[in-house]
Amino acid sequence: MIKKWFEIPLWQRVIGALILGIIVGRLWGPDAESIKIIGDVFVASIRMLVVPLIFFSLVSGVAAIGDLRKLGNVGGRALLLFIVTGQIAVWLGLALGTFVGPGLGVDTSAIEMGAVPTPNETTWRDMLLSVIPESPVQVMADVAVLPLIVFSMLLGIGILMAKEDGEPVQKIFDSGAIIMQKVTILVMELTPFGVFALMAWVAGTLGFDALVALAKLVALNYIGCLLIILVMYSAMIKFLAKLPVIDFFRGIIDAIAVSYSTASSNATLPVTLRCTQRNLGVSPSVSSFVVSLGATINMNGTAMYLGLATLFGAQIFGVELTLAQYFLISILSTLGAIGAAGIPGAGLIMMALVFGAVGVPLETIAFVAGVDRIMDMMRTTTNVSGDAAVATTVASMTNEIDREEMVSADDV
Ligand code: ASP
Repeated sequence: MIKKWFEIPLWQRVIGALILGIIVGRLWGPDAESIKIIGDVFVASIRMLVVPLIFFSLVSGVAAIGDLRKLGNVGGRALLLFIVTGQIAVWLGLALGTFVGPGLGVDTSAIEMGAVPTPNETTWRDMLLSVIPESPVQVMADVAVLPLIVFSMLLGIGILMAKEDGEPVQKIFDSGAIIMQKVTILVMELTPFGVFALMAWVAGTLGFDALVALAKLVALNYIGCLLIILVMYSAMIKFLAKLPVIDFFRGIIDAIAVSYSTASSNATLPVTLRCTQRNLGVSPSVSSFVVSLGATINMNGTAMYLGLATLFGAQIFGVELTLAQYFLISILSTLGAIGAAGIPGAGLIMMALVFGAVGVPLETIAFVAGVDRIMDMMRTTTNVSGDAAVATTVASMTNEIDREEMVSADDV
């Protein structure tokens, strides 16, 4: 029985739990609130991972940029493309959220509110100071993600500067990052139960309009991701890489299938590498550097989603956002996408970072967690296609691509 349970792929168990949760919630009504605790345990377990996950994966990611010098201009171009496409993605999410308003008109009075983060009246001075960690330990205890990111980056740079002397510590962080990913996989096994309970709660207590709002959010997530893939990446391949778009997508079809079903950029990494090298003709050095780095820091689907989800949370809870806060969301979503590990549910974990800074109630996380997996699958496909697109573009710009190989890839 237990063996049978684990034989079913996690995403199928999650979808099953989602459907069952909605049915049970609709039949059960407001009393379904009684099982929300299971969902809360799930969300709390995810939140528990935020600090160690960012700390280990960011330090080890920055330290891995040791290759940056070796690869010289390849690294610079890749980083520029990562940042520019990431920003376009976040603003697309913000635009979709603003113009469609997926969270408007939802009655959330049935949601029992915990502490609502109150964003301080901040000046630029305060904001600047707040990202400098007063004490790294304090920062971790407070789950203050932004200063944690700053500290982690500095530590990574320090490791790089220490050269051979830094290697033992770098190894510890590399291994810590791998261990944290395993711990996350463990916590993700709670997903079907958490999703079931959260969906039953949403469907039972919040009524039909809440389900409609969630459906709109899922639809917008798919539309945003498809726009990124079909418009932004196609334009990049056509105009920057100057290569045939159809051949590009044909070449990465395996990576698309694997990323959609696993919802993990990391798990897809070997396939993405194989696709870019074998089917697209990108040189091994460029592809291994750009694709591996991209799997950790280049997440346009996640960046778009973080922007969209923040607006969704603000809309369902009636939080007014100023233009300055939009800019803050765009910066934090980009950082969140960089800090998110390439594993299932990482985007959900990063929501706390953005929400807290602009005063969107963290209850939103529980509200959307039930449908996160379906959105995660599409986000991951977007992230992985982006890694391949940047690797191909940079390779083309630096003459590190075998064009014959790409165009003649019949055996894709
Ligand atoms: N699952 C995504 C990835 O691996 C990250 C996310 O949750 O957005 O790329």
